[in-house]
Amino acid sequence: ATEKSAVFIIFGGSGDLAHRKLYPALYRLYQAGMLKDHFAVIGTARRPWSDEYFRETVITSLEDFDDDKEKMTAFAQHFFYQSHNVNDSEHYIALKELAAKLDDKFDAGHNRVYYMAIAPRFFGTVAEHIKSEGLKTDGGYNRLVIEKPFGRDLASATELNDSLSRVFPEDEVYRIDHYLGKKMIQEISNIRMKNPTFEEALNSKYVSNIQVTLGESLGVEDRGGYYETSGALRDMVQNHIMQIIGSIAMDKPEELSAEAVHKVKTDLFASLKVLQPEEVKTEFVRGQYDTDNLGDQKAYRDEDNVDENSNIETYVAGRIEFSDDRWNGTPFYVRSGKRMPAKSSRIDIVFNDKVKDLGIKPNTTVSFLIEPEDGHSILINGIDYLEANQDFLKFPEDKTYFDNAREAYESLIIDILAGDHVHFTLWDELQSTWKYIDAVREQWDVEEPDFPNYLSGTMGPEAADTLLERDGNSWVWDD
Ligand code: NAD
Repeated sequence: ATEKSAVFIIFGGSGDLAHRKLYPALYRLYQAGMLKDHFAVIGTARRPWSDEYFRETVITSLEDFDDDKEKMTAFAQHFFYQSHNVNDSEHYIALKELAAKLDDKFDAGHNRVYYMAIAPRFFGTVAEHIKSEGLKTDGGYNRLVIEKPFGRDLASATELNDSLSRVFPEDEVYRIDHYLGKKMIQEISNIRMKNPTFEEALNSKYVSNIQVTLGESLGVEDRGGYYETSGALRDMVQNHIMQIIGSIAMDKPEELSAEAVHKVKTDLFASLKVLQPEEVKTEFVRGQYDTDNLGDQKAYRDEDNVDENSNIETYVAGRIEFSDDRWNGTPFYVRSGKRMPAKSSRIDIVFNDKVKDLGIKPNTTVSFLIEPEDGHSILINGIDYLEANQDFLKFPEDKTYFDNAREAYESLIIDILAGDHVHFTLWDELQSTWKYIDAVREQWDVEEPDFPNYLSGTMGPEAADTLLERDGNSWVWDD
């Protein structure tokens, strides 16, 4: 692995995202030799911590690694702490000086990665200060990394984007959707390229419907406060589900470069058939969990920091259509819910009977299982594809292919350091997906739902089944 050089500035360095995801991911890069001598990480947060204390918290975040303490300690020596309040100009000047000092010390090539592991309401303020206090460097790169949520509708997403783009042009912005970091999702393009018959069958002539499910068995846990401002539609469909659809349904790019891939993805999302208010009633279903059949689990409305009359949905199912030549007429059924019977993220492609013309058994179903086991399984008609031994889908040849797959954040940070945008979300795509989501949300907001409407531990409200039955279809994953 080629060594990379950069100074990372992590805003929110004491937070959950930093500790659960970023530090372990950076450590994996360190193990791989991609981060070695020429990097430093500055953690910032409000609390007044010493470097030593910060380093201890970083080492604690690595408890899942079965590695020697010495290596972890050496890694932690690259970490520095700067207490920081987002509104205080002085703190940015201190940050700038510390970054310059560390750049010299570690010979980091004037490269900066600014990682926003803080609440989105601070993004604009931080970006403005990065500009006014002159943190961006000359002679190296400056890259901004942000995470969902990118706004809560098109208007707020636009406002957020405007505040960032005044400081970081689009080619310096890396918007993380961690599903795009998952091996299985990344492999879909390869699978399509290496299996011409499968690719040939991937359009409305041969596909009856495509289903994308992101199911969770957990409830909101301790995130009720955040969830009350979001709901399943915004939290899962606008970003993760749409991006997963993008990977499977985009036109074949001319090459696997960021530019070519984003061109076909942007075109796909621009062809989303935005629903009229009346259509929302028939094409989308929402749900909210109740207790389970034994009365043991908390209903959503009884969770901490949740309004006792909350109308926030913990489940959504929808029937999405595109108007482009490739997909016109094929329904994409999507769903995401909390308190479903199991955690399961999957894509099911249901072919029609015309596929026999391509040598594929009529009505074949191809399923890509994404979670809980990232990437291990591709099923053809419910059988492991290696055993199903079908000519149209031969990739990868060997199961161990996925065993050493990088974790999503590790893979995405490698891309950021390489300046590769292929697995990140672009602003053009977000505009189209928000426009689509807003039309559903606006209709929902003027109608009173009949919540709660599904028991914890079940597949969601019945109307989610009717949505498919109406078309003569049914969910492939059904408990
Ligand atoms: P968190 O509450 O655990 O951490 C927030 C961090 O921001 C802390 O380090 C805190 O000190 C800092 N902070 C708060 N107010 C500040 C201020 N005024 N000045 C300076 N620093 C301040 O939050 P989190 O779960 O780590 O999430 C951070 C961001 O990442 C959010 O935008 C969240 O939506 C997003 N995100 C988190 C996860 C996750 O797994 N936790 C996943 C996806 C996206």
